[in-house]
Amino acid sequence: MNIDFEKGNGLVPAVIQDSRTQQVLMLGYMNAEALELTQKDGRVHFFSRTKNRIWLKGETSENYLYVKSIKEDCDSDALLIQAKPAGNVCHTGSFSCFGGKKSSGFLYELEETVSERIDDKVENSYTYQLYQRGINKMAQKVGEEAVELVIEAKDDNADLFKNEAADLLYHFLILLKAKSFSLTEIEEVLLERNRK
Ligand code: AMP
Ligand code: ZN
Ligand code: ZN
Ligand code: ZN
Repeated sequence: MNIDFEKGNGLVPAVIQDSRTQQVLMLGYMNAEALELTQKDGRVHFFSRTKNRIWLKGETSENYLYVKSIKEDCDSDALLIQAKPAGNVCHTGSFSCFGGKKSSGFLYELEETVSERIDDKVENSYTYQLYQRGINKMAQKVGEEAVELVIEAKDDNADLFKNEAADLLYHFLILLKAKSFSLTEIEEVLLERNRK
C-alpha cells in the first residue's frame, strides 16, 4: 500500500464501512502514523483535526472499530476500511454518523456467526466445511431444505415443520455470505417493494 498523503497535507480521508452489512458508519482522517497504528493494532486510529493528535476511535467510549480489511482507492488518496464496530459509532449515540439503525435480532447475530466461521476458516465448523464445498453445493443445500419444508408443509407435524424452516433459514444465510450479500441488503429489497 503506497498512500499519497501529500495531496491532503499529510491526511487522507478514510471511509469506515460495517464489514457485515456494508453500511457506511463514519468518515475520519488518517495520517501515515494513524494508518500504521491501525494496521499494527487492528483497531482504527485516526488523526483528529480538532484535537490535533492521534485518536484511537473508542479511546473513551470503548466503541472500537475492529479492522477486517483496508483498501485504497484508484489514485491512492482515500481509504475504505471495513470494520466490525464494538458499539455505536457516532458520538451522538447513533449507530452510524450518517443515520440508519443497526439491524438487530437473532437472525442478524446468526448471520454474523456464519460470517465469522467462514472468515476465520474454522476447520471443525459445519458452516465452514459446507462453504469449502463450493457455491453449487451451498445452493443445492438451500434447495434440499426447501424441498424438505415443502414435504413437511403437507403434513401437520409442527416440530418437523419448524425444524425444516430453521434449516432453510440457516442454509440461506450461508448462501448469502458465499455470494457476498448481507441480510440487510435482502431486507432492503423487500422494504423497497413495500414502499411502492
Ligand atoms: P471515542 O473515540 O468513541 O472514545 O470518542 C471520543 C471523542 O471523539 C468523542 O467525545 C467525540 O468528540 C469524538 N468522536 C467520537 N466518535 C466520533 C465520530 N464518529 N465522529 C466525530 N467525532 C467523534
Ligand atoms: Zn482518489
Ligand atoms: Zn457522528
Ligand atoms: Zn432439513
